[in-house]
Amino acid sequence: MLIAVLTVAIIALIAGIALSFAAKRLPSDAGFLVEQVNELLPQTQCAQCGYPGCRPYAAAVVDGTAAINLCPPGGDETARRLAGLLGREVLPVLEQSSPAVAVIDEALCIGCVHCRNACPVDAIIGAHHLMHTVIESECTGCELCVAPCPVDCISMKPLVPAEACQVAATGGQ
Ligand code: SF4
Ligand code: SF4
Ligand code: SF4
Repeated sequence: MLIAVLTVAIIALIAGIALSFAAKRLPSDAGFLVEQVNELLPQTQCAQCGYPGCRPYAAAVVDGTAAINLCPPGGDETARRLAGLLGREVLPVLEQSSPAVAVIDEALCIGCVHCRNACPVDAIIGAHHLMHTVIESECTGCELCVAPCPVDCISMKPLVPAEACQVAATGGQ
């Protein structure tokens, strides 16, 4: 009798340990979905979606607090893939109000490196105490480098002619 009780207890203990181990190893459904959404995002960590990076945005998309069309670098193609993965309606991506790239006034730059550290896509080159510059082709226009500059020598240059911006702003009226 004692042996039978001990055997059952040991089996229960092993099963408990196995279940606890499995629960730790296997991601929850929601966590797994967040990873899948995150894999579809461009990983520029530019925060243009309103979240501090791609993974926080992915989490917000999965929990339903963010729409699938808030990632300008991903564009319509990413929104379409997200819609397919999540079974949601395909929505066109909300464009940036005015696509732009960062420009550094090199005469004012003191080489503090703050902008370079803030840039999520390594679009700024420069070294300590030396002038910094933006690689225009790499810049996503996220503006994350602007605020950290202590001498305000970074500005955003629109990528479209001013006239076109005006037309867009007024809806062509
Ligand atoms: S806008 Fe897109 S690329 Fe930028 S952080 Fe958000 S999800 Fe990532
Ligand atoms: S240079 Fe500035 S605006 Fe351009 S991607 Fe880097 S942080 Fe964003
Ligand atoms: S943050 Fe401003 S001053 Fe500092 S390196 Fe960048 S552009 Fe130059």
